[in-house]
This record gives sequence, C-alpha cells and structure tokens, in this order.
Amino acid sequence: MELAYRDITYCKNVGAKRADILRQELGVRTALDLLHQYPYKYIDRSRFYRISELDDEDTYVQIIGEIVDWHTIGVGRGQRLSAQFTDGEQMIELVWFQGVQYVKLQRGVQYLLFGKPSRFNHTYNFVHPDLTPMAKVTPDMTQGLEPYYNTTERMKRAGLNSKAMRQIIAGLLPDLRMGVPDTIGMDVLEKYRMMGLTEALVNVHFPKDTPSMQRARERLKFEELFYIQLQLLRQMKRREQNPGFKMPMVGSRFHALYRSLPWPLTGAQQRVIREIHEDLKSGRQMNRLLQGDVGSGKTLVALLCCLLAVDNGYQTCIMAPTEILANQHYETLRAFLEPLNQQSSISHQPSVRIELLTGSTTKKQREPIHTGLQDGSIDILIGTHALLEDTVQWANLGLVIVDEQHRFGVAQRAKLWNKNTTPPHVLVMTATPIPRTLAMTVYGDLRVSIIDELPPGRKPVQTFHYSIQRRTSINQFIRQQIDAGRQVYVVYPLIQENEKLDLQDLENGYNTLCETFPEYRISMVHGKMKAKDKDLQMQRFISGETQLLVATTVIEVGVNVPNASVMIIENAERFGLSQLHQLRGRVGRGADQSYCLLLTKMELSKETRQRMDIMVATNDGFRIAEADLQLRGPGDLEGTAQSGLPFDLHIANLSTDGQILELARRAAGEIIERDPLLESEHNRIYKRRIDMLRIEAHNWSDIS
Ligand code: ADP
Ligand code: MG
Repeated sequence: MELAYRDITYCKNVGAKRADILRQELGVRTALDLLHQYPYKYIDRSRFYRISELDDEDTYVQIIGEIVDWHTIGVGRGQRLSAQFTDGEQMIELVWFQGVQYVKLQRGVQYLLFGKPSRFNHTYNFVHPDLTPMAKVTPDMTQGLEPYYNTTERMKRAGLNSKAMRQIIAGLLPDLRMGVPDTIGMDVLEKYRMMGLTEALVNVHFPKDTPSMQRARERLKFEELFYIQLQLLRQMKRREQNPGFKMPMVGSRFHALYRSLPWPLTGAQQRVIREIHEDLKSGRQMNRLLQGDVGSGKTLVALLCCLLAVDNGYQTCIMAPTEILANQHYETLRAFLEPLNQQSSISHQPSVRIELLTGSTTKKQREPIHTGLQDGSIDILIGTHALLEDTVQWANLGLVIVDEQHRFGVAQRAKLWNKNTTPPHVLVMTATPIPRTLAMTVYGDLRVSIIDELPPGRKPVQTFHYSIQRRTSINQFIRQQIDAGRQVYVVYPLIQENEKLDLQDLENGYNTLCETFPEYRISMVHGKMKAKDKDLQMQRFISGETQLLVATTVIEVGVNVPNASVMIIENAERFGLSQLHQLRGRVGRGADQSYCLLLTKMELSKETRQRMDIMVATNDGFRIAEADLQLRGPGDLEGTAQSGLPFDLHIANLSTDGQILELARRAAGEIIERDPLLESEHNRIYKRRIDMLRIEAHNWSDIS
C-alpha cells in the first residue's frame, strides 16, 4: 500500500500501543508522516578515531582497541567500574556508574568503542560507552551517518528511543525506495537544482555521506519554505484582486498638516507616503508593511496616510498593542492636528475629529464614539483590540493601521477585513525593524515599505555596558548630566511571572536613588499604578519638574522627552535586543549628545555578553534585528498560532536558512505570477498539497 495511506500501526516494529503513543506525541498517522520525522543530528560512523585525535567534547567518536585492565571502586549503589582502554598508542579511561554488574570485559579482544568523550583533567574519558567486540560488528553499524531522532519522555518510557525510531524508519526504506509521489514539480526541481522527494527522504534518514545528507535537507527545507511562500503569495494575490476603496485625491487636510510641520519630511518619509498613496488610489485593497527604525518618524507617516483617506471621505483607525501606546498615539496625533483644527475654527478649512477607544473607555464615553463612528463624524479612531469588537460599527472605514510588535499573525489580520464587504486598506507598522527572513514569512503576504533614514541632526546615542560594581561612577555621571540641565531615565525589567519581585526591585531602586540624590526630584511609574497617578508622574517628568524617571518598561513605547539624554537600563541582561533598542530610542531625540548605559551583573552567559556587545557596537535597528534572530533563533516563533506562519516548520530554520528562503520565495513567486489562484492542471499538485497542509496545521493546533 502507498506509504501515504498506510496506518503506522501496521508498520514494522510499531504495533497498536506504540502507534497510539506516536500519534499522540508526534501527531503522525501514516508511514509517510513517519518519514517526515527528520533526524536532529547525525553521527559519522564511517570514521575511526585515534585517541590522540580527540579534541571535541561534543561529538560521538568510535575507536578500535583493547581493554588492558579494569577494577571496581566502592560497593553497592555507589559502585563504579573503571577500565583502561588502548588503541595501541595511547591509553584512555572508560567509566561505568550504573549497571556495573552487567558490563563484561575481556582481555585480548578487539573492541569497537563508541561514545562521547568528556574532558577529565588533561585527558578525555568515556562514560558509559558502547563496547562491541569486533567479531560482532556488522558492516551496517559502521556505515555512513547514523541518524538521531527527537523523542519525548513518554516515548522513551515505551521504548521508543532514538534507536527504536531508527529501526522503525529503516523498516520503511524498501517501500520508500520504490518511490513516493513528489510534492514539487520537475520543472521547479530542475531549475532550482533540488533532489526529488524520494531521494531526499532516503538521504535525510540514511545518507551515504555528508554532501548527500546536506542536499537532502536542503531540498526538504526548500519544500517547507516553498509551500509557506505559495500560500502567502496566493493570499496576497487573492486580496489584491479585492476591489479597494479609491482614494485618488491629495486634499486640504493633508496639505494643511504638511504645511504646519516645523521641519520638512525626510526623503524616506516622502518615498513611503508615495508608495502608500499609489496603493490607495489603485482601486485595489492595500496590504502593506511599514518598517523603520526607532525614531524614524513612522507615527507622522501614519497620520499623513490617515489624512489622505480622510480627505477622500473615509474614516480611519490606528490599532496599538497596548493601552499605553494607544494613549500615547492619541496624544501625539492630537498635538500634530492642533494647529490644523485651530485654523479650521477661524477659516473654512475642514477639521479632523480624532477619538480614543480602549478597554478603559467607560460606557458613557463610548456612546458618543459609537454614534460618531456610525454617522461618519469621527475621522480617526485610535485604540487597542477593543476596535475589533462587533459593537464598533463604521459608516465608511477606509484605512486600518496596525501598530504592533510581532504580535499579529496573518490570521488575526484577516479578521480586520472580514468586517466589511469592501475591505479597508491595511497598513502594518512594526515598532522596531524585523529581519528580512521574518518580513518574508510572518509578513510575507504584505508588500513592504522601508524608512531607511532618520530625521537630520540626530546625534547617535553612545552606548556603554557596565557591571553594577561601577555604581559610584555611574552616579557621578548622572549628577553631571542633571547638573548640566538634562534628565535621566532609569528602567527596570518587568517580567510577568514574578511581578512582586520586579516591583520590589523597582521600589528599592527608587529608594536608593532618593537617598543618593536628595537634591533631585524623582518620578516613578509602573504598570500597577492607577492611570491617574501614572499620568501625574509622567507629566512631572515631561514638564521638567522631576529630573529622574524610574520606571518599568511601560515607557518602552511612546514617551518623547527631548531633554532626557540618559537612558539607564538596570538588569539589562533580562531584556531582549529589540526591547533594549526600543528603550534606547527614548533618548537622542534632542540636540544634546545622549547616552545609554546597560547595567548588568558581573557574570554573564556568552549569549548575554554578545547581546550587550551588539548594543554597544551599533545603533542600526536592522542590524540589531538580524543579530537578535541569530542569537535567539526563531524559537519564539514556534507554533503556527503564535508565529503567524501558515504552516509549521519542521526542518527549515528562519535564522539560518535565509538563502534557501530566498530561493523558495522566488520559485513560489514565479508560479503565482502565472497562475495566482493555482487553477491550472499543472499546478493542481500545489493546490492539493496546500489544502492538506492547512488541514494538518488546523488539526495540530487543536491538539496542542
Ligand atoms: P518612530 O515611531 O518611527 O519610532 P516617531 O514617529 O516617534 O518615530 O518620531 C520620532 C520623533 O521625530 C518625533 O518627535 C517626531 O515628531 C520627529 N520627527 C518625525 N519626522 C521628522 C522629520 N522629518 N524631521 C524631524 N523630526 C521628525
Ligand atoms: Mg513610534
């Protein structure tokens, strides 16, 4: 029977009980599913080592040699067996702590030793190695690369360890070699020089050498990424066939705001506004991603885009991920609109009505907003997810701007355009730049605009990394800056799992600062405060009444105090790169030289040290985003639901497979370009496979 239809229960070495466990733990149902459980590593069994060649603790090796001597140490449970093993040149120790009574050693016999060396004083030893008399070594034991499979605790308890998985999969090989139907067309495989599926599956499990293993993996990665791209591009094309509201006019409100700006737009701001305007007047629905570094002026671009829509008679909304950010946007945009609205009260110019709607908007406040949305008198609505509620009804919503930090997946975005019959235009903005591979996957269904230029006259923030032992000189620095008329942020991490402890950190820090600087006034804000108190504290800092602001990450987004020139980040090791970069962006907004001090404890992991080094080395948000992905890996993205990817990745890795991703996107693009909805006979296999992957992704997210 075809592998795709053969129930795992009837595969060699499986049976009903193991089949149940495999289904529940790995989600595999058919023999073909099993073949798609790829090894996570390989050990080269064709290579034999000399003891003198050992130099890496982490790789498995095999050595041929003899046991010259052994003895047991201790008795009972603490018993240990130590043996001396030689390859004829050097001697090495083998150790067993468990099952000592079962280890049978013989002198004068050639053994094949297999195991992982560990460093011990100045030599290596092997703990619990495999020892097989050479007479019993069969050729297949020392051939090619041996695959290793991930297993779960429950699988191991049922004897389904890596070795058992290897046997089960080996049992499928004869049938696999007969061929499985390919999932990618010959033309694509040839053009992109990829292996056929059958060959790839054979070689991903039992490669004859490293190059064929790599080629097999490359093909399987390509396939995963190719299908993700096909699906994303198909969605993009499908949406681009949606009719969109036509907004050809550049009207009076847009011009009035433009004229009222105290400085010219940067070239990059002008370019992205043009790109967006092209979409708005095209008559098709816009789906665009706006990227730009912290401080590049995305907010203003967003506002100008809203005015483009408003001038054409449409309503708009901006949706923020948090209430604080929504408030901040509301305040910022209102301030921008103030001159325009004042003008309109004395002349005949049209005004712009802007409102705020969040979870804390009271019922009483909501009523006039609901009315204003329905009668079309509200032009711009700022808010949180509350905007998506069904009670929010619009007269003519034409443009939705989503301001987010990697939180919105494709599926959630889809919710926005299911509300109306004609879908509004959609612009997604990210708080900090995202790496190219993520832009092509998580946001792969969107066209991209990039603001790659900061407003002129900004001095790059200077960043330093200190251990907290340097507290005294840091305090001196704070004093010097404040005495020169500047203001200082001190930020503490807030990690939800332990809010109490975090709050304690913050309060201790606040008290210490009060003691150290009795001559200064200090504000404190954190998420647990009442909104009113928070506003009051913030206002005191913004007006310059207080010199220091001690805060949790609530200030990460939004606040704009140009006179603040120092950002001190306490426990910086607990922040991710993108958060650190975002925080640093709070300073360097005025004319003065600004500084960011990253404070950590002395002892840091290698990864943390690298994170600090990158922050010190560069201010470029795009470089930081790439480094972040390299360091963290795409681990945060696991699972389709969180990641916004249409299908899960099993073998491809977004932090390391950027090149294969580029190829996959190109290949998928060529197909979609010719046949946007995959309707042709030739593209039937793609359409069918996508449907299958969608069902799988759906089932699996129901389980986990
Ligand atoms: P982002 O949201 O991209 O991080 P903002 O929109 O908050 O950046 O802009 C940062 C600051 O730069 C704001 O104070 C904004 O008013 C100002 N700004 C925006 N565009 C310009 C420009 N073209 N020239 C000078 N300043 C600008
Ligand atoms: Mg911003």
